[in-house]
Amino acid sequence: MTALPPDTASTAGKTWTPEGEKRDTWAAMRRGLFCRCPRCGQGKLFRTFLKTADNCSECGLDFTPHRADDLPAYLVIVVVGHIVVPLALLIEKAFAPPLILQWAIYLPLTLIMALWLIQPIKGAVVGLQWALRMHGFDENFVDDQV
Ligand SMILES: [Zn+2]
Repeated sequence: MTALPPDTASTAGKTWTPEGEKRDTWAAMRRGLFCRCPRCGQGKLFRTFLKTADNCSECGLDFTPHRADDLPAYLVIVVVGHIVVPLALLIEKAFAPPLILQWAIYLPLTLIMALWLIQPIKGAVVGLQWALRMHGFDENFVDDQV
């Protein structure tokens, strides 16, 4: 068995090299949506809730360059808002239930949906950043803030 150069990793018969690898945006986002490594789709992207792992356990991709920041939260607000608000309007128009009952339904529903969606959406954002070679995911990236 031959040793791999320092910047490569091998998994399931595939050898990944950082230079010039082809990156499929949709596949990377889909893998991130399932909380998997955007490059190989095998390793776990998160080590705990919303905390990305330092690198992929399968292919060794460094996850630390991602800059998802607040985008996942904004996207969750957009998605959940487009579900809960029309639902609330429809129920109000059709049944006009007491306000306390509406609060008892919409607040937990909003919270559960937001917590359920935030990690997959963050994974998709990290996958998008990796596929588009954003920030430190670009092999030619030079950090000028040092
Ligand atoms: Zn990987």
